[in-house]
Amino acid sequence: MTKPTHFETRAIQATEPKGDETGSVANAIYPSTTFKREADGTFKSGYIYSRKNNPNRSLLETALAEIEGGELALAFASGMAAINTVFQALKPGDHVIVPDDAYYELRRTLSELFSAWQLQHTPVDMTNHSAITAAVKPNTKLIWVESPSNPLLKVSDIQRISQLAHAHDALCVVDNTWCTPVLQRPLALGADAVMYSTTKYFGGHSDSLSGALVLNQSAPKAFKDKLKNIQNLSGAVPSAFDAWLITRGIKTLKLRVIQQVKNAQTLAQFFSEHQAIKAVHFPDLTTHPQHDLAQQQMPNGCGAMISIQVGKGRDVAMGVIAKLKLFTPATSLGGVESLVEHRKSVEDINSQTPENLIRVSVGIEHIDDLIADWGQALA
Ligand SMILES: *Cc1c(COP(=O)(O)O)cnc(C)c1O
Repeated sequence: MTKPTHFETRAIQATEPKGDETGSVANAIYPSTTFKREADGTFKSGYIYSRKNNPNRSLLETALAEIEGGELALAFASGMAAINTVFQALKPGDHVIVPDDAYYELRRTLSELFSAWQLQHTPVDMTNHSAITAAVKPNTKLIWVESPSNPLLKVSDIQRISQLAHAHDALCVVDNTWCTPVLQRPLALGADAVMYSTTKYFGGHSDSLSGALVLNQSAPKAFKDKLKNIQNLSGAVPSAFDAWLITRGIKTLKLRVIQQVKNAQTLAQFFSEHQAIKAVHFPDLTTHPQHDLAQQQMPNGCGAMISIQVGKGRDVAMGVIAKLKLFTPATSLGGVESLVEHRKSVEDINSQTPENLIRVSVGIEHIDDLIADWGQALA
């Protein structure tokens, strides 16, 4: 039989126990921090110490590379640890371009931590290609993409931005947390690396904090080596249990994401027809400003995150959130349970997020129940 090409099959195969002599169908967990050395000084299994590598992390990293179509993957203790590793791989004096609405804590990391390190950054509207081009400087070493963006779901052209980066000998790294490889394939579009908060859809059950980077074959070897070295030396690696949870999550990733997308599409349509709602931000709607690009870049659906704007100011939004019964008010996203968040209040005072915006992470509950809940909350 030739190697299966379908994502679902590869996801199951890639996460099966490797070299387990018990016949176990599920993966074992190896909490050991250290591994036995032979009399001749060698390590029979290749494992030495769990910060360097661990059987659960190895399996997760191999599986992530396999399902993403990358050369190698590195797993981290959080999405932020993966992000910090990418910026640490650059040098003081380098310049990076980031989305003006990038993940809030990425923006804080650059301005509060990496500014002291003389890493320069320019926030840019990533939907405006001439603005990105104009922001490129002789020392630009990396363009960071997050598409769709948080919380306004702006869509940026990954292929075009990768080409622009490469024309200037810069790297293009895509935060693909909101899409996963089920919906969007940045490496196939030319990106050098994808970054994940696997805390979200990969884990899928809001019970594991973790992150990952997956590197393209075409990414420079020196960049890959640096990332691996930082992963080991800074030590922000996932525990064996977290690696095991994310490996397990990969098995059902597509099933969950496809169902979440379906629910989100129906809910977004309901929102767009509801008179109490002033605006719906969701790339699958034909009214979205980058709808055509979104369809092309995310052919299986544009994710299960929706932002809506209700009334004026903060109070109406908070009132609606308080009335919802099936959407837990909590930050984060991508779990099987639906969540809502008043985004402005978790960001800082200078954030551009509108006061009347509610961000919705759609879960796998029955869509009729989800719509009925919004019906009563908005009434
Ligand atoms: C949650 C999130 C992160 C940060 O990941 P953590 O696992 O919370 O550290 C980064 N980017 C996006 C888009 C996210 O949603």
